[in-house]
Amino acid sequence: MAFGYNGKILQVNLSSKTTSVLEPDEKWYRTYFGGSGFIGRFLLTEVSPQVDPLGPENVLIFACSVVTGAPFSGFNRYAVGAKSPLTGGFARTEAAGYFGPELKFAGYDAIIITGTADSPVYLWINDGKVEIRDGSGLWGLDNWETLERLREETGEQKVRVVSIGPAGERLIPFACLQNDLEHFNGRTGMGAVMGSKNLKAIAVRGTGKMEMADPEKVKELSKWHRERIKTHPPNVGLTKVGTPGLVQGVNAAGFLTTRNFKEGQFEGAEKLAAENYHNTIFASRGTCWHCTVACKRQVVLDDPQYPLDKRFGGPEYEALAALGALLAIDNLPAVAYGNQLCNLLGLDVISTGAVIAFAMECFEEGILTEADTEGKSIKFGDAQAMVWLIRRIAERKGIGEVLSRGVKKAAESIGRGAERYAFHIKGQELAFHDGRGKTGMGMGFALSPTGADHIETPHDVAFQGEGISKLYPMGLLDPVVPVKTDAAKVRFFYIGQKAWGINNLLGLCNFCSVPIHAMTFPKLVDTIQAITGWETSLYEIVLGVERANVMARVFNNRCGFTPDDDTLIRRWFEKMPSGPLKGAHFDPTEFRGWIQLYYDMSGWDTQGRPTPGKLVELGLDWLLEEPSEAV
Ligand code: SF4
Repeated sequence: MAFGYNGKILQVNLSSKTTSVLEPDEKWYRTYFGGSGFIGRFLLTEVSPQVDPLGPENVLIFACSVVTGAPFSGFNRYAVGAKSPLTGGFARTEAAGYFGPELKFAGYDAIIITGTADSPVYLWINDGKVEIRDGSGLWGLDNWETLERLREETGEQKVRVVSIGPAGERLIPFACLQNDLEHFNGRTGMGAVMGSKNLKAIAVRGTGKMEMADPEKVKELSKWHRERIKTHPPNVGLTKVGTPGLVQGVNAAGFLTTRNFKEGQFEGAEKLAAENYHNTIFASRGTCWHCTVACKRQVVLDDPQYPLDKRFGGPEYEALAALGALLAIDNLPAVAYGNQLCNLLGLDVISTGAVIAFAMECFEEGILTEADTEGKSIKFGDAQAMVWLIRRIAERKGIGEVLSRGVKKAAESIGRGAERYAFHIKGQELAFHDGRGKTGMGMGFALSPTGADHIETPHDVAFQGEGISKLYPMGLLDPVVPVKTDAAKVRFFYIGQKAWGINNLLGLCNFCSVPIHAMTFPKLVDTIQAITGWETSLYEIVLGVERANVMARVFNNRCGFTPDDDTLIRRWFEKMPSGPLKGAHFDPTEFRGWIQLYYDMSGWDTQGRPTPGKLVELGLDWLLEEPSEAV
């Protein structure tokens, strides 16, 4: 009997409107675990690297894990993956909320969607029963309207819904998915892939129960975790002020990305920070399934220009940086309103902020003029221009059509030197942590298989001095110096990436888990064992993480990525102009050496390809064969 998981993976073919169920054996589950492991495995076996990301041959995967839905804070994340329309390579993006556990309780561990429906549809999964329903009445609705309509159509107020907004319908390559209005699979353009399949939403209701191998032990460990969350300082801070609490510290340290990554400090940061946030727009805390941290913020404002509605989720750190510091906007209600628009329209707020910052700098440099922007001025600091541009991008009209392609393609289309201001890695816009101030995070941006991704690795700053003790169980004993890049930093990144990767493999929220937050490595191993009944170890789990990373790497290699794609943005090879990090930068030649050192540690060749020995070590012998043209 399986514990922790259902042993069932739902397959949906939208072209033929048929469904079927895969039932992999226990060894398969113990090899791939969930999240990043499931996605790597299915992309390599089901998707030819040559497919058009927006064509019917691309496969959209929703992946829980063997522990999703267990009664612990943060055991609620699910990952979505496909070939990315933004990068042309491996895509994976996680969200918390309630959808993942609900899918498990409905009887499935994952969903694999192939083909394209000939007209809009939605999927209705009700305690194991699956229907592909007509969704034409939903097309054109925003995420809030879609959720309301699906509550009516299914007759279930408790239905959990993942949907796309108009941005996904219009195939914007950085369109996101949203579940229950407050939780997002933001990165890598999965909203566009879902839109290309004419799939507006997936509605799930599950009343099943998850069987645990050792229910008493699970209860005891869950209680321990809950108690620790109450006193563990990083969790206490998250409960009190959420991620807006990061703004002041990041700004003071000099790595709050400002004015399109030009500077590391924003003079208006205080207005975006937690104190002002809680004194002006904060309404209440929000949470996810079974989570006692409750880091989410809900906001409200009765303002005719920037009305804020509590139901739509308040801005978190990344949104405050994206639509605030990066655009030099210190008007908090405007930033929160811009975030609300992105949520309703289904745009990833990170890429949206980055593409607007790119346009503003191009405008200030004279590369874009009012002739390109319908007569509007779009300079840094202009909140109204930000709101206007979000709407134009979602509509794909005027300058919005150009920007809706993402910074890389927008710059290629504008020409005139615009690419100097288009900051992306592997085609994906960066999240808002200046790598010059935390160089391990910089390596994560360069080496993440999804392109610039801030959840590839833990942040260097948490492992200074005594902080390194959190990574002792992974064998890292030396404190980290955030601004330094040397061999020790490459080792920190190599091992830290594996520690952090546990959360992406098992679908755990980073804010509740290892290595920074309330979970510890030994307790996590005990927990996995109590849930699944497997006599497991940290070694076995980390092997799963490495297996997932290698599968993603092989997929990207097959899609044509080379070592030249493992790089940083131009600005980070230049000296930081001001602030506490003045003069900090990456040396391009040294950086290339650190990348090669990472390949060497990883058992990859000089071209960044995992060696046959590494594939065999990880039990990925089946990757030794060249892929066929179409799988
Ligand atoms: S810590 Fe925050 S994001 Fe993570 S599960 Fe809890 S409420 Fe959700």
